[in-house]
Amino acid sequence: MLTVKQIPVLNDNYIYLIVDEKTQTSACVDPAISEPVIETLEKENLSLDFILNTHHHFDHVGANIELKKKYSCKIIGNEKDSKRIPGIDIKLNEGDFFDIGKSKCKIFDVSGHTKGHIAFYFMEENLIFCGDTLFSFGCGRLFEGSPAQMVQSLLKIRSLPDHTKVYCAHEYTLNNANFALSLDPFNEKLKKKVTEIESKRSRNIPTIPCNLGDEKNFNPFLMFDNKDYLKRIGLNDLNDEESFKIIREMKDNF
Ligand code: ZN
Ligand code: FE
Repeated sequence: MLTVKQIPVLNDNYIYLIVDEKTQTSACVDPAISEPVIETLEKENLSLDFILNTHHHFDHVGANIELKKKYSCKIIGNEKDSKRIPGIDIKLNEGDFFDIGKSKCKIFDVSGHTKGHIAFYFMEENLIFCGDTLFSFGCGRLFEGSPAQMVQSLLKIRSLPDHTKVYCAHEYTLNNANFALSLDPFNEKLKKKVTEIESKRSRNIPTIPCNLGDEKNFNPFLMFDNKDYLKRIGLNDLNDEESFKIIREMKDNF
């Protein structure tokens, strides 16, 4: 069994501390800063065995070196981006497996936000740490990759079971959901979702993890090939990449 502790940091980042309960092996996903991680580890009486990095941005690797110095943990990242992952020890690629104690995760290459972005999918537990690729009701900006690349990455995530829990790295849900509603303003189910999200956020409750099944139904960036949806939001006769690109551009200007 894997437990996940969610640590909100900076404006809207989430760091995740995961523990394989059987072996007490621990890993930290995308440590932006070190203090709250150290605090949580000390409270739980744990050391840190691994750092899992989804991509090279500073709000995901900022505490790599400090935590490695303190705990001698191993840093795991994408082989293709190893030059930009500080302190990297174990270099993985699409399709590789990695064990946190008895919990096995599979690596997906989900580039698009950056050129070397990966996701960690824990198959038995059905949860995915996807960094800045898929957000609740949104997706990462295309800083380095192309729309075609991001579409392929999102399709990999979309192919997972509906009950998959999505642990993304930012709390952007309310803004994303308002964007989704601006595209599809008469969608009553979506309106209800937005109200639920508003209520959670007004009480400072995280909306993450989210459920992949909901994302398949409501996330504009997973509906680039849904003809009914595209028609409703006024996009016709475009291929998947073109629809995705336009939705992404609209969000960039939202
Ligand atoms: Zn990023
Ligand atoms: Fe980020």
